[in-house]
Amino acid sequence: MTVDKADVIIVGGGVMGSASAFFLRQRGQSVILLERDQIGQYASGVNFGNVRRQGRFLGQLELANRSFALWKRLPELIDDDLEFIPSGHLRVCYREDEVAELQAYADAPEARQLDLQIYQGNELHTRFPFLGKDVKGGSYAPHDGHANPRLAAPAFARAARRLGARIEERTEVAEVQKANGEFGVTTTDGRRFSAGQLLITAGAWGQKLSEQFGEPVPLAPNGPQMAVTEPVPYALPTVIGVFTKIPEEVIYFRQIPRGNIIIGGGYRRVPDMLNRRAYVEPRSILNQLEQMRRLLPGVGNLNIIRVWSGIEGYLPDNLPIMGASGNVDGLYYAFGFSGHGFQLGPGVGDVMAELISTGSTSTSIEPFSIRRFAPSVEQRSKAS
Ligand SMILES: Cc1cc2nc3c(=O)[nH]c(=O)nc-3n(C[C@H](O)[C@H](O)[C@H](O)COP(=O)(O)OP(=O)(O)OC[C@H]3O[C@@H](n4cnc5c(N)ncnc54)[C@H](O)[C@@H]3O)c2cc1C
Repeated sequence: MTVDKADVIIVGGGVMGSASAFFLRQRGQSVILLERDQIGQYASGVNFGNVRRQGRFLGQLELANRSFALWKRLPELIDDDLEFIPSGHLRVCYREDEVAELQAYADAPEARQLDLQIYQGNELHTRFPFLGKDVKGGSYAPHDGHANPRLAAPAFARAARRLGARIEERTEVAEVQKANGEFGVTTTDGRRFSAGQLLITAGAWGQKLSEQFGEPVPLAPNGPQMAVTEPVPYALPTVIGVFTKIPEEVIYFRQIPRGNIIIGGGYRRVPDMLNRRAYVEPRSILNQLEQMRRLLPGVGNLNIIRVWSGIEGYLPDNLPIMGASGNVDGLYYAFGFSGHGFQLGPGVGDVMAELISTGSTSTSIEPFSIRRFAPSVEQRSKAS
């Protein structure tokens, strides 16, 4: 049996795997990327398209800033247009104490590059006259924006291929192991690949592979809910999202230049992982429309022309798993982006390529280490 070899094998061709393949090739590593279905078919291709930094865990902003710098350069970098529009992002709230939280976030040293501007009262309603009277405050991020998720992973994969990466679609990895210093990867149709380094970017399925190396993690799939309206005159260039602790109030939307308004938020619905299907939760879509009227009373009655969901992997602390394995040399992970990986995609690819090629990263990713889920010595001895 032939075994195909590369410096690095990547399992999973969402935006994380595709961007990693591109940046690894830029650093001269030979790469084979194995994708079970089609590149960008899952979360990376069906997400809301927010390229938002504000509101993230402060310890993630360094990575988000690195990614933002790449978003701005993408056409020149990968010779493709992902329809990134740095339209600004407004995070609004309905309560005074939430305004104080927005202010505290804006004042944090980590958020400096975001240039956040806090508005409230008359000033808010003069600057954003379309907001409903319930809205008490807003944090405006002038440089954040949105892009077209459908285009992202395939564009990175094409660019990686042009640089010499081998991209294999319809190739499902069944088994991964390390023996004699080499990773062996076997697919469900019996093909075999080997490499000195292995990167798992398998999204909501990442845990199935990490557990084969003795690193199980509490990754849970879930499906955010999306809708898109008929096109109406282009009037809302800014992405808007609600900051609240009340789940029903969570809504975010963006209008694209051809007029459609894309809406997300509300109750998620757990997908069918066996058949890889994410289903729409009707009460969530109805709730989105209700919340939209509260936020933008002038929006009127709009027809929804399509609804959908997607499969995303969430960790209990809502942070991804990213970095080197705690158990196995040469093994790396970038999965479980917990609903906010799209903006990070280019930065994650760049950082993982740096880590795999040089052994360290110039951007801090320590909070995302898989080691945070390793059982303590006490738990291990109880289990044995
Ligand atoms: C509906 C929705 C809305 C979202 N909105 C936003 C947003 O607005 N902004 C934002 O920043 N983030 C958003 N996200 C999150 C974002 O889309 C994800 O965090 C990101 O796309 C994850 O990328 P990924 O490459 O890790 O995962 P995926 O895109 O899921 O890719 C993983 C790939 O691995 C493949 N794979 C799995 N197992 C195997 C195997 N054994 N062998 C081979 N291949 C395998 C899968 O087929 C899949 O293609 C949203 C997510 C969803 C679902």
